[in-house]
Amino acid sequence: MRQIRPFSDQETVRGIVAAYQRTFGGEPWNEGYVCPVCGDIFPLTQAGGDCPSCVRCGKSVLLNEYWPTDKVACDFNREMEKPEALCLVAEDGDTVVGFIWGYRIVVDEQLDDYLESPGLSRLISGSFFYLDDAAVIPEYQFHGIGKKLVAQMLEIQSEKNVLGRTLDGSRMFRILTDFNGKTVLRITRDRVIMTISL
Ligand SMILES: [Zn+2]
Repeated sequence: MRQIRPFSDQETVRGIVAAYQRTFGGEPWNEGYVCPVCGDIFPLTQAGGDCPSCVRCGKSVLLNEYWPTDKVACDFNREMEKPEALCLVAEDGDTVVGFIWGYRIVVDEQLDDYLESPGLSRLISGSFFYLDDAAVIPEYQFHGIGKKLVAQMLEIQSEKNVLGRTLDGSRMFRILTDFNGKTVLRITRDRVIMTISL
């Protein structure tokens, strides 16, 4: 029923984009729509239309998609051009229900800026496989799909060290902890950088 295979074609990219929008448009992110005037964000369940916050102030403002298809696809294709970039998808039939992607990074001061993690290069050095983004669409969460995606990615990538940036206590945080991930830097109260040594 569930199949995980390496990223290969643009049809799969469209599936990844849809999974991205459905995942991040729901809990706990709720990045479905954004108001171009007040900046409030709403989950996908809002289904577009006028901004409720602005309507309360007597204004009619049409919501924009928070993650427009073209932007997500373009960002994804750019990520896939990075060194040793890899992407895995979990599918149910023809539907992409989850994905993970990443690429090789070298920790230096530039990377501190890129990951918005000041001081990281003073704590660790060398090259890492960076788990950039992962998602499982709401209806398929809590079935171990995320853990399988991470496990397979750790197996197919070729670095000795893996790095992830996530929220303390998130599902990704717990999965990385299951693979002996350690928090090496706390960026903000709840955002952390974790590493796994293989
Ligand atoms: Zn508004």
